[in-house]
Amino acid sequence: MFEGEGQAGESSPEESPEPWFGADRVAPRAGGGLFAGIVVNRPIDQVLTYHCGLRLAASIRPGQRVRVPLGRGNRPAVGYCVSVEQSPPDGLDPARLKEVIEVLDPAPLIDAGMLELTRWMADYYVCSWGQALDSAVPAGVRNQAGTRVGTFLLVPEETREALRDQTLKPRLSPKQAAALETLCRATGPLTIADVCRRARCTTAPILALRRLGLIHSVKRRVGLSEATEPDDVEGEGEPDLRVTNGPPVLPDSHPRGGSGPTLTPEQDAVMAALRPALAGDGFAPFLIHGVTGSGKTEVYLSAIEQAVARGREAIVLVPEISLTPQTIRRFRRRFDRVAVLHSHLSDVERHRHWQSIAEGEVQVVVGARSAIFAPTRRLGLIVIDEEHESTFKQETVPRYHARDVAVKRAQLERVPVLMGSATPALESWRNADRGRYVRLSMPSRVEGRPMPDVDIIDLRREKKFTGGLSESLRTAVHRALEDGGQVILLLNRRGFHTFVICPHCGGVVKCHACDVAMTHHKGRRLLLCHTCDAERPCPPACPSCGAQGLHYGGIGTERLEREVIEAFPGRVVRRMDSDTMRRPGSHEEVLAAFKAGEVHILLGTQMIAKGLDFPNVTLVGVVNADTALHLPDFRAAERTFQLVAQVAGRTGRGEKPGRVLVQTYTPEHAAIAHAVNHDYEGFVAVELPERLTYERPPFWRIARVIARGPEEAVVEEYMKRLGSALREAAEPSVRFLGPAPAPILKIRNLYRFHLHLRCLTARPLQTLLHAVPARVPPPGGVELAIDVDPTSTL
Ligand code: ADP
Ligand code: ZN
Repeated sequence: MFEGEGQAGESSPEESPEPWFGADRVAPRAGGGLFAGIVVNRPIDQVLTYHCGLRLAASIRPGQRVRVPLGRGNRPAVGYCVSVEQSPPDGLDPARLKEVIEVLDPAPLIDAGMLELTRWMADYYVCSWGQALDSAVPAGVRNQAGTRVGTFLLVPEETREALRDQTLKPRLSPKQAAALETLCRATGPLTIADVCRRARCTTAPILALRRLGLIHSVKRRVGLSEATEPDDVEGEGEPDLRVTNGPPVLPDSHPRGGSGPTLTPEQDAVMAALRPALAGDGFAPFLIHGVTGSGKTEVYLSAIEQAVARGREAIVLVPEISLTPQTIRRFRRRFDRVAVLHSHLSDVERHRHWQSIAEGEVQVVVGARSAIFAPTRRLGLIVIDEEHESTFKQETVPRYHARDVAVKRAQLERVPVLMGSATPALESWRNADRGRYVRLSMPSRVEGRPMPDVDIIDLRREKKFTGGLSESLRTAVHRALEDGGQVILLLNRRGFHTFVICPHCGGVVKCHACDVAMTHHKGRRLLLCHTCDAERPCPPACPSCGAQGLHYGGIGTERLEREVIEAFPGRVVRRMDSDTMRRPGSHEEVLAAFKAGEVHILLGTQMIAKGLDFPNVTLVGVVNADTALHLPDFRAAERTFQLVAQVAGRTGRGEKPGRVLVQTYTPEHAAIAHAVNHDYEGFVAVELPERLTYERPPFWRIARVIARGPEEAVVEEYMKRLGSALREAAEPSVRFLGPAPAPILKIRNLYRFHLHLRCLTARPLQTLLHAVPARVPPPGGVELAIDVDPTSTL
């Protein structure tokens, strides 16, 4: 399929002699030139060997990007140099090798450790090494964002004034206003792409602003030092401790120190277990199972202090949604140099952070999934908070799980890794059962605070129940507010009505492009596809049979908001979901208002369920605990348990006791019954045997193969062919399920079929998937995806 490349060199990582391990320059041999192993960001499962002439041989090193001729047409492509040697791998004829065209980076972007980690990823997740490398190095670093000529947008003072006077804003569309505000807030030059990303808009509103003369664009060269300040969430009224890009500062190796509270006995016990690992030089994985509010974060901070005191750096992974000002402030209070990597960073900011981390100016890197690739110099510790979160899994190539990559990185760099959760993933729990992770427990809350009382509201018994709130929940909200408390209501569904159905033919209104029911968004007066974001106007009649009188049903957060506003007049209600939180900063604004007591009731999707710590929340209502329970996903029960347990943890965190009410139609379900009792181990005792019986993780390993294409029959035929080839080549220990249509057959007009492989160990699956699909390539128009340890089942 990919013949005609430079020539395949080593493709078996186990046998390669790790020639790149030292990043030192290799001297050209007497005859002239060197041989470089190159990988590219394409699905080419090989290291290609190129010759490197004398001129380039002087500068080429592993970890640099190069330009090479690729394929039969010798089209120039960018690749990563992963090895440099004096002689070509055995069996390759030096005379037939192609030449490296140029070396692109003056210095290596990637060190030996990162090369090894990405090679492991390629092998484990069945992608190419080049693809793994490309995901590890941010685009802003690859293109040296901020150090070149670019087109930047400027806001003239008149526009800023008009915006402050509020005379301008009413004349702009919401998107235009968001784009303009983003530009005004920035402390350095932004490109059009930066604004699109931050204001989550297309280029259209930005171009419109320019046409209106409200902004200008200029071409200029900016260096990293004058580029934008990191746009992370501000710490309120605190000294600015952001990493700045002044001259390189040698780390003083001291945490701010002494600012932590005296540890509780439970925290002390956990620290005692961690201390030898933190002082040592070995790989040591720990799983901290600590109930919400048990003080896990405080343990992370103490552990990081130990690492920093030794002159080491720490990486802290948290779910993107937990990168709140509250979280960030806790780290900035304790450490001088904290870099926060979140998804709203511009390329320039990301590049700057990357550089300061690589130069050793940062003590603690806090970030979401991709922060696991931070180029620390002397890594001392990795922390993964909320390790059970499925957002640690990347859903595009390479489909890696940041927790598992973190454990691998810790192993390669011989450092401790600390995973923490109130509701550990069953995979992690079993790893602890098998002795692979050391389990540490924190069963009680700090300062003897009780776990909140959780009570069930059995919706089957509630009368006169039309909206989201039962009579019992309504009464409880009323009481909590009367007593001066604040209330959180969780409903994990966006929109007003969650479906539109035709009473005549029984069909639901679906997206034109997806096999998915559309959601009614009343405020925007349209139906929205939550899979592809397509919109359509509310149809006057059934699109399939033409009957009038479509029925709108189901309840989403938008409808719940209206119900709550009507039920509690005079109370301030805010909704937090991805519809109301589009603008950057809006999340922080609402949380700040809630914290200040200006908001009485906060309602929303799981966005509000995670990591928040508000002492005055005395009631949490789960409006419908069953939303995730009946999805076609073997983790449905686990997810439901996690969600209810996590949201229950949002209350009773202060002096006042907290209460949780859970509305459900299935109170007897193990996930709900055990979440109500804060009984993780009880849930595990029911769930694990089920997983074993049905041959599911954590006992069995799964790989999922998905093909998609515009023609259903073509995709189906291909998957049958691939399925047979895989079955034929598989060891007897591998079991197959499918191929079958995916639960969502069509997304964005592409038909999807999938196949599940399972085995008690992962290796046979990976070996099979590295070998067979390359021999049975998909026909034109069909794309193939391989997902090892999948979390998505749709
Ligand atoms: P978790 O991360 O397990 O939810 P946190 O570390 O956020 O728990 O701790 C819960 C609350 O208790 C926080 O407000 C935190 O500041 C406080 N806390 C944690 N450890 C201590 C301690 N040793 N002494 C006093 N307060 C503490
Ligand atoms: Zn759609």
